[in-house]
Amino acid sequence: MTQRYFQKGFGLKSEVGPVLARTYQSAAIERLKGLGYEAGAGGLHFKLAREFGFCYGVDRAVDYAYQTRRQFPDRRVFLSGEIIHNPDVNRRIQDMGIQILRESKDPVERFREVSSGDVVILPAFGVSVPELTHLKSKQCVLVDTTCGSVLNVWKKVHYYAKDGYTVIIHGKHHHEETLATASQALTHANGQYLCVRDVAETEMVCDFIRGKAGAADLMAKFREAASEDFDPDLHLQRIGLANQTTMLMSETLKVQETLRRAMIERHGEADLESRFRAFDTICSATQERQDAVLEMLDAGGLDLMVVIGGYNSSNTQALARMCAPRVTTYYIDSPQCVTDTGIRHRAIGATEETLAAAWLPAGDVRIGITAGASTPDSVVGETIERILALRGRKAEDLTQPANIEEGSQSYA
Ligand code: SF4
Repeated sequence: MTQRYFQKGFGLKSEVGPVLARTYQSAAIERLKGLGYEAGAGGLHFKLAREFGFCYGVDRAVDYAYQTRRQFPDRRVFLSGEIIHNPDVNRRIQDMGIQILRESKDPVERFREVSSGDVVILPAFGVSVPELTHLKSKQCVLVDTTCGSVLNVWKKVHYYAKDGYTVIIHGKHHHEETLATASQALTHANGQYLCVRDVAETEMVCDFIRGKAGAADLMAKFREAASEDFDPDLHLQRIGLANQTTMLMSETLKVQETLRRAMIERHGEADLESRFRAFDTICSATQERQDAVLEMLDAGGLDLMVVIGGYNSSNTQALARMCAPRVTTYYIDSPQCVTDTGIRHRAIGATEETLAAAWLPAGDVRIGITAGASTPDSVVGETIERILALRGRKAEDLTQPANIEEGSQSYA
């Protein structure tokens, strides 16, 4: 029987490797790393987070997309939505003739164009169970790049749902990964889910658990974020917490603690184990990027942070949210945001970009740089090059001052 489902690439890594390196690596980043992640020129001092940019899951997904194009040069190749949340990467993938399908809640509508013999790449954050079932019925070739860390969350969801626990997902209910994760719960008889975005939404659920809020009020808020026949009276008796892999770690711990306390208040400590389960399912790549930013912020001395990644990238948003309360932060989605007239950026919680004209102070400036897990080095490197160009400098001019540790750096 002809194989139609692929999860491990096509053995073309050595062929696409050089193309990926040329496309997504950056000489500026290599230079900065070689200088110990801190270097400057023209009064601009850059400090690069120790962990930033492409994670293992994104690396793999992009690699498989390039391999797929090579493996099927004459077939139509589709992507079931953006492969990752980065505009530069998605544009390059479209330039190879891979078509990104429009979003739709209805799998029939979403995959209307796909026929048997076509190839569909499934993204790193996975697709929902109904979408996968529908695609399989179309007899098309599927290249599944779902990240192992997402599969790990799904395992936890099955573990909860099969034992009759409602799955509470700390995540954005409209995010592809969360939709896919929630759909796993529904594969079990009486499987239910409810998504909470943050601590404030968790508190609303806890008000119900403690008997301080009614079911109707709760569902008025969570109708879109819960399984179709969700009944708070029935389905908040036993709960298991999982989270979207890219949420803010500190927040997910608060969500967990808030729910745990509410369950104890409502049912008593002795009953907790049979009523509440929790696993932190933040992926290690997200965790490492957040830890690296925390380390930079705690070290102090930065005048500003530039956070680079798609505006719809949850893990980039989390990085920007960590930085913004502690240092002036510019969250940008591409190097082109840095211009002669200022920096176009998106403030936390805003839906539009704004232009900050006087963002780069005169004289010596210490700039922290980080990027989300879907941002390639090429994008981070070009951003640094464009900032350097504002002072008439290039990446090759970057040097590390001998006395950087003492904080008395200066650059010619
Ligand atoms: S952010 Fe984490 S879960 Fe998402 S693709 Fe990267 S490693 Fe996988």
